Amino acid sequence: MPTRATKRGDDRTPLDLDCDVLICGASFAGLTVARELASSPARPRVVVVDRYEIGERQTSACAVPRPWLELLGLTDAILQEFGSITAHTARDAFEWELPEPFVTFDYGTLCRLLAAQGSFAFETAKVEGRGPAGSSPGAPLTVLTDRGPVRAPLVVDALGWRRVLAPAAEAAIQPPEAYLSRGLEVHPPGRSDELALYLDPRYVPDGYSWSFPAGDEVRVGVGSFDPHHHVKDPTLRLVEDLGREPEGFQGNWIPHRLRPATGDAVFFVGDSAGHCLPLTAEGIRPAFHFGIALGRELRHVVEGRQTREQALRRYASLSAQKDPAYRWLLRLQRLVGGIVPHRRTLTAALRATTPAPVARRAWSAYLGTLPASRWSDGPSDAGPTVGARPADPQGPAVAPEVEVVGAARPVGVPGD
Ligand SMILES: Cc1cc2nc3c(=O)[nH]c(=O)nc-3n(C[C@H](O)[C@H](O)[C@H](O)COP(=O)(O)OP(=O)(O)OC[C@H]3O[C@@H](n4cnc5c(N)ncnc54)[C@H](O)[C@@H]3O)c2cc1C
Repeated sequence: MPTRATKRGDDRTPLDLDCDVLICGASFAGLTVARELASSPARPRVVVVDRYEIGERQTSACAVPRPWLELLGLTDAILQEFGSITAHTARDAFEWELPEPFVTFDYGTLCRLLAAQGSFAFETAKVEGRGPAGSSPGAPLTVLTDRGPVRAPLVVDALGWRRVLAPAAEAAIQPPEAYLSRGLEVHPPGRSDELALYLDPRYVPDGYSWSFPAGDEVRVGVGSFDPHHHVKDPTLRLVEDLGREPEGFQGNWIPHRLRPATGDAVFFVGDSAGHCLPLTAEGIRPAFHFGIALGRELRHVVEGRQTREQALRRYASLSAQKDPAYRWLLRLQRLVGGIVPHRRTLTAALRATTPAPVARRAWSAYLGTLPASRWSDGPSDAGPTVGARPADPQGPAVAPEVEVVGAARPVGVPGD
C-alpha cells in the first residue's frame, strides 16, 4: 500500500526528498510503473508525485479492452462491458463485432486499485522542471516541484502530453503546432447499451466523436486529428443531438506520434512518450503496456542486474520497436480523416469492414499491436542476471554503474 503524505492548504509543507525512483504522474502510466516495482526484493524507495490526489481528475473516457483489466487485477473498476462497437455516419450505422470485449470503468476506483498494488510514498506537488544533472554516471537527477526538490537516480516522466521533463535541447511541444489531436467530452447522467462512434463531418471533419456509456453516465465527446479544429461547439451539438445535458467537461491534447522514450537520463512513459495510439486515441492500453515494460527495466536496475544507462538504452529501443505500428496507424488516421467528409466513400469503407470475419481480423490486428497476453507470465520476467548482486535493504537500492558491467547481456527484452 502506498504511504500517503499529501499536503493541502496550510499543511502544504516544503519538500526536500531523496529516493531511488521518482515517478512523476500518478495516472495510468506512472501507477503501472510503481506497481511493477513493488514486487522487487530490493525494496526501492519509490516516490510518486502528482499535482492532484490519486484518481481525483479523470483524464479520459476510460474505455479499454477487458483483458488488460483482468491482467492487472482491476476488474472491480468496471462499469459496463461491450461486445461490439457501432459506427454511425450521418445516415447509417455499422456494427463491428469485437474479438475481445471493451469495458468502461470508473477512473478514481481504477487508479486507487492500481496504487494499492504499489509500494511508494505519495506527494501532491506540481512538477516544474529539472535541476542541473550530476556529472558522474548514474548520479541522481533533481526534479523541481512547487514544494521543493526531489532527487533520484531513476526519474520517470509520466506527466502526460506536456513532457515536462524533456531535455532542454528538445523543441517544446506547443499546441496546436505539434503532433497532437485534441479531445473534449462531457459526462451527462443517463444509460445506454451502445458503445458508439460518430464519423460525421457535422461534428468534426478530420476526426471522430463518441458516446461511451459507463453505468449511470454517458461519456460523450469529440476528437479532432487536426489540433487547430476547436471541439467545444461540436461537443455541445452532439450532446444536444443525443438528447443529453452537457455536464462535467473534460478535455486534453492527445499525442499521435511516438516521441523518444528517454532523454537526458529521464524515462518517459504514456502520453509523455507519445505512446497514445494514433487513429483511435487509445492511450490507456499503451500506458499499461509501456508502464509494465519500464517498471521491469527499473527493477533490473534497483536489483543490480543492469545499470541505469543500460536500462535507458533497452527501454528506448523497445519503445522505438513499435514505431512501424505507430506510423501505420498514423497513415490510417490521415486516411480516415480524409474520407469522413466524403459520405459515399466512408459508407463503402465501413460496409466493407463490418462482416464479422473482416471486423474480427481487423480488430485483432489492431489489438495485437499491444496485447495483454504479452505480460501473462506474471509479475517478474527473466531479466538480466549476469553481474547480479544481492539487494542491500539498508542502503540505496540503485546499483552504481561500475558494479554491474557484466550485466550487458541483452536478455528478456520486454516488448516484442
Ligand atoms: C477526452 C479524452 C478521452 C479519451 N478517452 C480514452 C479512452 O476511452 N480510452 C483510452 O485508451 N484512451 C483515451 N484517451 C487517451 C488517454 O486519456 C491518455 O492517452 C492516457 O490518459 C495517458 O495516460 P498517462 O498516464 O500517460 O497520462 P495522464 O492520464 O494524462 O496522466 C498524467 C498525470 O500527470 C499529472 N500531471 C500533469 N502535469 C503535471 C505536473 N506538472 N505536475 C504534477 N502532476 C502533473 C496529471 O494530474 C495526471 O495525473 C482519451 C483522451 C481524451 C483527451
